[in-house]
Amino acid sequence: MAVDRVAAPWGERTALGQEAVWPVRVDLQLEEGLGEGDVDRWIQSACVLCSHGCGLDIAVKDDRIVGVRGRAQDRVNRGRLGPKGLFGWQANNAADRLVQPLIRRDGELVETDWDTALGTVVERSRQLLAEQGPLAMAFYTTGQLFLEEYYTLGVIGMAGIGTPHGRQHPAVHGHRRPGPEGELRQRRRPRLLRRHQRLRHPVPGRP
Ligand code: SF4
Repeated sequence: MAVDRVAAPWGERTALGQEAVWPVRVDLQLEEGLGEGDVDRWIQSACVLCSHGCGLDIAVKDDRIVGVRGRAQDRVNRGRLGPKGLFGWQANNAADRLVQPLIRRDGELVETDWDTALGTVVERSRQLLAEQGPLAMAFYTTGQLFLEEYYTLGVIGMAGIGTPHGRQHPAVHGHRRPGPEGELRQRRRPRLLRRHQRLRHPVPGRP
């Protein structure tokens, strides 16, 4: 089904029952003028732009990313991709893409190297801890970590630094691997979160 994911990012809702299996819908987006037959190779991967982790193949031509295609056999998305997964790869080839860290010097952002950038983060964090204590520190994390990584982050934040201020991407609480929709996650989530996901998420339960 051809759907303009920019004009109508959510598509239509599908009234699938909790145990129903979604029909496969393979979404595809390639550079203008290219067809699937023009692609040199497809690299199996997953979209990491939210915690849903949709399975996709990356299209490569002349050693450049030229598009993506959802994976029909992936139990998380059955081929569907939301707008970020479908179009996010385009930024990789953007001429003004940021490829160096920036640091503010005299009010201006200037390019620097990674050692200098990360060293500054450490130095400023230590300074903040010494001057204001652990409650001045907070973490806002991605929804794409695995359980062990969230645990490690929790240990660093709470046991190491001593701050209770931690916030995960809201998607972590709503839909998280492993398991397809309609199985583990649907059963164990509170009703409010299930409604939120069905209403607002671009992938689950869309035709
Ligand atoms: S729902 Fe969208 S952003 Fe999230 S993993 Fe799938 S394609 Fe990526």
